[in-house]
Amino acid sequence: LELRIKINREIPEGTFKFKQVFSGFEDVEIVKNIFGEKTETVLDNLYVIVEESRGYLYVDDSLGAVVVNKDYLKNGKDIYLYLDVIHELVHIKQFMEGKELFDTRYSYVERPTEIEAYRITVEEAKRIGLSDKQIADYLRVEWISEEEWRKLMKNSGLIQ
Ligand SMILES: [Zn+2]
Repeated sequence: LELRIKINREIPEGTFKFKQVFSGFEDVEIVKNIFGEKTETVLDNLYVIVEESRGYLYVDDSLGAVVVNKDYLKNGKDIYLYLDVIHELVHIKQFMEGKELFDTRYSYVERPTEIEAYRITVEEAKRIGLSDKQIADYLRVEWISEEEWRKLMKNSGLIQ
């Protein structure tokens, strides 16, 4: 499995241009599908905040920036980071469309913004050759229950 992107893992805490941390995403087909002809502009203007405090990656919905945990950036699996970045780029697109990213009327696995992000991510995971088992493991995030995990696999199109 060969990813045509580069992750700069030795980054200190701070704010950086997206491309200083994650390069090559502008040439990834699925990313071009997300942003269309705005792809270059969006990625050129996007910021990444590297910090020590929180879990993995998320979009700060006051700044429209991707926040990434420093240790995860350094030690996370390539494939997971790759898929996580695509997931967060879907949230960036939603943010640009003025959507509410953390709509608390929905649970995590039923929130429309999450379902869209997971659907696109699962589609990309299949395209790059991950098995259903590997994708299921990827979706097994620790803040959801076993039952929610099943719901997430279903809502993201992995299982019927
Ligand atoms: Zn998400």
